[in-house]
Amino acid sequence: MIQLNSYACGQWHQGTGQGRVLHHAVTGEPIARVDSTGLDFAAMLEHGRQVGSPVLRAMHMRERAALLRKVAQVLNEHLPELYEIAFTYGATKKDAWVDIEGGIAAIAVYSSLGRRHLPESNFLVDGEVDRLSKEGTFVGRHIRVPLEGVAVQINAFNFPSWGMLEKLGPSLLAGMATIVKPATPTAWLTVRMVELIIESGVLPEGSLQLIAGSVGDLLDHLTCQDVLAFTGSAKTGCQIRGHANLIANAVRINIEADSLNAAVLGPDVVPGSPLFDRFIKEVASEMTVKAGQKCTAIRRILVPREREPAVIEALKSRLAGTAVGNPGNSEVKVRMGPLVDRGAVETARQGIARLQQEAEIVSGDPQRSEFAAEDGGKEGAFLEPILLRANDPANATLVHEVEVFGPVATVLAYDDTAGALSLVRKGGGSLVASAFSEDGAFIRDLTFAIAPFHGRLLLMNEKAASESTGHGIVMPQLVHGGPGRAGGGEELGGLRGIHHYMQRVALQGDPERLERLCTPPASTPPANTAAAK
Ligand code: NAP
Repeated sequence: MIQLNSYACGQWHQGTGQGRVLHHAVTGEPIARVDSTGLDFAAMLEHGRQVGSPVLRAMHMRERAALLRKVAQVLNEHLPELYEIAFTYGATKKDAWVDIEGGIAAIAVYSSLGRRHLPESNFLVDGEVDRLSKEGTFVGRHIRVPLEGVAVQINAFNFPSWGMLEKLGPSLLAGMATIVKPATPTAWLTVRMVELIIESGVLPEGSLQLIAGSVGDLLDHLTCQDVLAFTGSAKTGCQIRGHANLIANAVRINIEADSLNAAVLGPDVVPGSPLFDRFIKEVASEMTVKAGQKCTAIRRILVPREREPAVIEALKSRLAGTAVGNPGNSEVKVRMGPLVDRGAVETARQGIARLQQEAEIVSGDPQRSEFAAEDGGKEGAFLEPILLRANDPANATLVHEVEVFGPVATVLAYDDTAGALSLVRKGGGSLVASAFSEDGAFIRDLTFAIAPFHGRLLLMNEKAASESTGHGIVMPQLVHGGPGRAGGGEELGGLRGIHHYMQRVALQGDPERLERLCTPPASTPPANTAAAK
């Protein structure tokens, strides 16, 4: 069994307590121990503030962008090893690709954006000059400067690579040192990636630290110059939001929580059409990629009432072709692995039982457990895809409230456009929704009715289908987050993502003085102002 250590104040630290033992998701064997007991969390923050962040701020933005490219290169050199680790917690090759190479791509995109669009300076000009006086001798202008503290990231178990890198790109680019705290069940992958980055020496000391295990009293020591970016369940998000020190010091927090994302089949889409088939493929894929353990996964499948039988039949047949088993077994074509651990299966079964109060199972058996027996899978954390059908969608409530974090989704029939829009909005705020239709009027009504409840909308038709990146994939160029239940946060969005780690300041004074202050060095292209918008 390996020991997963933290990296704090320039040293690797082995926990001095019992810690938590991680088990192989297929075989159930103990594989690693995680423990942060004995870490001095306040000292870690000071190390980031005093050692890491000042060195980053002494560089200009394009130099920091170059660092990100080096991080991506280091990780790219170790892909086979990273994939091996991902198999231990049940990821198939495709699941691991989404997380590992998706994360590396995200940090590479930030490097590219930074090198192409950011100035050779340490601040951004935001917007134009605002005239504030009659004679024009007194004007206003906005700039953004890096915060001087540490960017703390607390991540969910389902994206141990992407979760770290999609936050690390923007925070390093903005000039803030980072402390990474991966979720315990899949911490091994993050720990190994941080080890590789630290060993390579591509980042200045103090700019990246790691907590393997619990965060202890870390949150008690955050100040107004730090940023906390949390990804995880709505329940933990609420606890963090209510933390006394974070409230007292108005610490900047971004919360990415769970979400009951919807996919809507338009009334115009008939069975057998390419768009209908695309809808079925997308829903089935969202249910099974990463065994449904994706914050963006489709949980609610909205279909016109007359199409419900056809949709259910098509989904049943597609899901029946999903081979569930050991992703590490190269002799079997496994399409879906186990959940992260047996606790996750139990929680998912409880969630399914709650959904059954107002829905019936039309495909799959939540109690079935005999998968990958040839690989010792009896102790594995398996759950086959479960499709439910809501009995009375207009009056159902649990289907809009219970997130079952696994390969589980519910079909909800709607009677008209107004009914469909109302059902989508009942999710109370989601990361993403998708709509499949060629009908422009339907798409317009839907877009503006559900946009206030979402961070992203995928508007699918045949023209977009061939090159679409799909419902669940978060692109670093676009914002990620959502209102309400989804946490109310926002990340990524290209260069918008670095603004979360900077302070916007309004400057007032005489126009020439402000112009001199805001003029970047001569070699910087005019993209400076555009990038800051
Ligand atoms: P979780 O149980 O809420 O844990 C998330 C993170 O918070 C973990 O690192 C966890 O550490 C830590 N944590 C737990 N209690 C804490 C506390 N009191 N103070 C500070 N940190 C604490 O969520 P999860 O089970 O890992 O992830 C699944 C959930 O995340 C799902 O609900 C999913 O929808 C959501 N998610 C959302 C997004 C998004 O972008 N919106 C992305 C991925 C996942 P330990 O593991 O050590 O307890």
